[in-house]
Amino acid sequence: MTTVGILGGGQLARMLAIAGIPLGLRFQVMDTVADACAGQVAPLLVGDYRDREALAEFASSVDVATFDFENVPAESAQWLSTRLPVFPNPGALAVAQDRLDEKSLFRELGIPVPDFIDVTDRASLDTAVAQVGAPCILKTRRLGYDGKGQFRIQSPADAGEAWEALGSQADEVGLIVEAFVPFQRELSVVAVRGRDSEFRSWPLTQNWHVDGILSVSLAPASVDAGLREAAEGYARRLAERLDYVGVFALELFCRGGELLANEMAPRVHNSGHWTIEGSETSQFQNHLRAVLGLPLGDTRMLGHACMLNWVGDMPDATAVLRDPAGHWHDYGKQPRPGRKVGHATLRADSAAELAAALQRTGHALGREAQVAAALACLRTGA
Ligand code: AMP
Repeated sequence: MTTVGILGGGQLARMLAIAGIPLGLRFQVMDTVADACAGQVAPLLVGDYRDREALAEFASSVDVATFDFENVPAESAQWLSTRLPVFPNPGALAVAQDRLDEKSLFRELGIPVPDFIDVTDRASLDTAVAQVGAPCILKTRRLGYDGKGQFRIQSPADAGEAWEALGSQADEVGLIVEAFVPFQRELSVVAVRGRDSEFRSWPLTQNWHVDGILSVSLAPASVDAGLREAAEGYARRLAERLDYVGVFALELFCRGGELLANEMAPRVHNSGHWTIEGSETSQFQNHLRAVLGLPLGDTRMLGHACMLNWVGDMPDATAVLRDPAGHWHDYGKQPRPGRKVGHATLRADSAAELAAALQRTGHALGREAQVAAALACLRTGA
């Protein structure tokens, strides 16, 4: 019996554990809080990721370790990797944890990125804004997610306010200024690489965010073959350079037929949740296959899929449960503003049928703006 250890016990760990049941796997999850939602489906160890005693207890009960949370301290991942196999490797995790290192690697690999400059103090912020040009965004280098740790600078005069908001974090987590990209749409490549270096990716996904948090994902994104091949090529290059094992996502801005990389997530990703019902093999099962050295499953799509994220609270499930295209996921979390508590995936054989399913369920869900955005994403490809 193989036990997979997962650092981080959120919905990603929960969906990994659910996907691992048919493979006969056991799981051990570790999180800093006792009500982590993966604890409802797998044993949960509560402890700090820096606590060596807790980590040792975790290590002693698992055969291989992986992550649901990318901000596990890189030193802790490194320490664990001296005791058991850890995938993705701690070096890859460390690069993905730091926006400056990550963007520098993208650039080195020939993956286009928005202009960016490291910021160390108030004066270097002014220099960076002058060089990159406004509008731009001041972001923390580490520990930012879902649009947190970001300040939009509309004009150089906003630099003072931006420094007030984030300057105190310059020493602890570092800062970076990035050019603001007036993108037409956001895309992501979700891909997987096995222990034997086999690489596969799912069809490109189009994403729509609200306040920096993913709200809608649609797959397959309608893009021409050149763009698709470029995006897949970037993901493959990155995975090979990092000797990456497991699933990851590369988030891209699409502006005037050009792709610019925003960031990589070194784990299963919210924009790949549609793969549970919309693909021959889900991102969750393929991640497990990859970290265990098993053959990877087919990443072919089954028709067209749209994922609607439930942020803050869950809408009424009835319309989606009743719908032939509908699939419901409740993460078993308490409602809280800004918190991802569940999602629905609508899957249909054609884009027209998917649009009809969105229209049928949309009104009953009471999430008009989100459903309208999903329909607009679908029309991008019409
Ligand atoms: P991030 O935490 O970097 O993934 O940012 C969250 C969201 O903020 C992205 O998905 C975009 O919608 C937006 N965003 C981040 N960086 C930029 C940028 N340089 N230009 C325009 N929008 C951005």
